[in-house]
Amino acid sequence: MSVVSDSRSQALFERAQRVIPGGVNSPVRAFKAVGGTPRFIAKAQGAWMWDVDGNELLDYIGSWGPMILGHAHPRVVEAIRQALTDGTSFGAPTEREIELAELILAAYPCCDQVRFVSSGTEATMSALRLARGVTGRDYIVKFRGNYHGHADGLLVQAGSGLLSAGGGSGKSAPSSAGVPPAFAELTLVADYNDPAGLERLFAEWGDSIAAVIFEPVVGNAGVLVPTPEFLASLHTLTRKHGALLIADEVMTGFRLALGGAVERLGLEPDLVCWGKIIGGGMPVGAYGGKAEYMRQVAPLGPVYQAGTLSGNPIAMAAGIETLRILSEERPYDQLERYGARLEAGIQEAATLPVTVNRVGSMVTVFFHAGPVATYAEAVQSDTEAFKHFFHGLLERGVYWPPSQFEAAFFSTAHGEVELEQTLAAVGEVFKALG
Ligand code: PMP
Repeated sequence: MSVVSDSRSQALFERAQRVIPGGVNSPVRAFKAVGGTPRFIAKAQGAWMWDVDGNELLDYIGSWGPMILGHAHPRVVEAIRQALTDGTSFGAPTEREIELAELILAAYPCCDQVRFVSSGTEATMSALRLARGVTGRDYIVKFRGNYHGHADGLLVQAGSGLLSAGGGSGKSAPSSAGVPPAFAELTLVADYNDPAGLERLFAEWGDSIAAVIFEPVVGNAGVLVPTPEFLASLHTLTRKHGALLIADEVMTGFRLALGGAVERLGLEPDLVCWGKIIGGGMPVGAYGGKAEYMRQVAPLGPVYQAGTLSGNPIAMAAGIETLRILSEERPYDQLERYGARLEAGIQEAATLPVTVNRVGSMVTVFFHAGPVATYAEAVQSDTEAFKHFFHGLLERGVYWPPSQFEAAFFSTAHGEVELEQTLAAVGEVFKALG
């Protein structure tokens, strides 16, 4: 399992950096948080990827969430192949869009209609526009360390590649250059798992708040699990003040259950955003909700939203086949069993204080004694220890996400062999660390 060489990845990384900023098309891929050279991937199958040097890597990134069935699932590949031969894009409606919409809505009884876009970023951006259009209000609330894509107003105290320590509730500065403070002004920031803080925010701003957007299980600060009190406060406060509740299920949708976190946690959001799994590895996002809201979207209503490649037939085909397989096989107990054994194995092997946060097939190992339920607790993790953990695993052929503040994902293709190899590597790495 040990690494032969990464010389080809190094050469490609140098070449890439000449023509692509940082050599990557999404920041976390560059290994900035952990150092070293990112692996350039040649191909993947099931739970495994092969880099351009021929190293075999056991994948815990899963393309950051979409690959719940593992890579290149034969049925998904075949569905794409069939769709390809019919043409790649028409800019006109197709039956596949209806099929994917029906599959999504069957799993989410809280939604009557869904609109497809091409990324999670577009999904959350469009859902917020809709919430503002419906309520006639300007302010939105997001949670510190939650990430909802890179639309201007959402790059405020954002998680994922942007995660850094921050201050109290209320108005906050943008997390990115190029976001005018005037845009960030309309984004109010609250602490996750802090119902009292959210209540204070609503007491002050309630009449101006169009929507609260949240990750129902956080993946983008590492995994954080919502408390029942926090979830109850989201529902109560948004209803009381006439704001819409937007569940960002881009990561969790069809992963934590067929009906995502909404089903698993019994949520009642007004709007839901999806991405990742519903595209089966192709670029897709979607947002949906009750017909009374969705009727406000163009061409029916005054809230404009469009896309040249929205509902792309290849992406629809990959999504349809993925959701069909998930509906037929309901692999959530299998994923839970793998996750429970992985979690227990990591805890058993740990030679230093760790907190393993896991919900279903999303897991993060934080390097401190915990508990880790909030952003403030997440950022206390020993990121130096994480770096050693990450590189130790990578040297042993286990490809963990290259940042402390991300979720690791596994798939239905992760079985006994994969679990054994992972835990063997984890054991060796902890021995070296401790
Ligand atoms: N919302 C959540 C919860 C996400 O995790 C992400 C991406 N990781 C997004 C939105 C943005 O999705 P995309 O990268 O497809 O734009």
